[in-house]
Amino acid sequence: LPCHLDGRWLALDEARVPVLDRGFMFGDGIYEVVPVYRRRLFRFDEHMLRLERSLTAVRIPNPHGRDAWLALMRELVERVAEAGGGDEQLLYLQITRGVTPRVHGMPAGLKPTVFLMSTPHHPPGPEQRHRGASCITHADFRWSRGDIKSTSLLGNVMARQLAMDAGADETILLREMPHGGVTVSEGSSSNVWIVLEGALIGVPPSGHTLAGIRLELLQSLCEETGIACHLRPIGEAELYAADEILISSAGRELLPVTRLDGEPVGHGAGRGKPGPVYARLHEAYEQAKLEQSI
Ligand code: PMP
Repeated sequence: LPCHLDGRWLALDEARVPVLDRGFMFGDGIYEVVPVYRRRLFRFDEHMLRLERSLTAVRIPNPHGRDAWLALMRELVERVAEAGGGDEQLLYLQITRGVTPRVHGMPAGLKPTVFLMSTPHHPPGPEQRHRGASCITHADFRWSRGDIKSTSLLGNVMARQLAMDAGADETILLREMPHGGVTVSEGSSSNVWIVLEGALIGVPPSGHTLAGIRLELLQSLCEETGIACHLRPIGEAELYAADEILISSAGRELLPVTRLDGEPVGHGAGRGKPGPVYARLHEAYEQAKLEQSI
């Protein structure tokens, strides 16, 4: 399939970057993952704002303005679809600081390396949504700049592998607060939500919780569907006592968590099954895909 590297279109397996690229040396780069439905970009402007914030935080100049990114990403979608890559895609874009002899400090005047590729988008189907996700919990051992969507993902990779090792789908990271108590950060590549007394509760963005694009989306879907929703810290005990647990990300969209640390989630007849708040939000999400893609 075609990809884009530093202004050139080429086949993915022919794309090469120099070993001194700081993305390779240090993980010194920023990325985004943008879902595409029916060849249209879902919540494109929200992704561009987060990209801008991440780039600014690490002092990499944004190589393109909003309209140039849109044109480039639309061209990628069309090229990939024409090459048989399908109409539902996940666009991956990565900007690294560039190529330079290996020094820790940030050399001035580098030309950022810009890379875009597309992978097939297979959101969870009916069977997976019915089964739900199985999660484990683990102490959050990552850095405190999780607000930056950095390509330095070793902590997230290690956290996800713990889930794989346990035969689970995702690791929910828990953090000891400086003044006591334990709260939910996020999943290894997802945001975490709980349902308590009919209300959806999500974790506010911080250095330990990425501002997922679905954070604002789910708040507005809740408003539309009349579900109470707020962002506030989620305590460990609340996680284990929740009526429902959900995870959200570009690729997984919204998924119910039906097992936590090997135990079924929820209470009564609904124990271990996707809950009613999930079902309503899933429907609203499907509608939003069609209405909020450009
Ligand atoms: N947290 C982390 C660490 C992630 O990698 C992701 C996926 N990009 C998310 C949260 C969810 O963000 P989004 O909804 O933008 O995919």
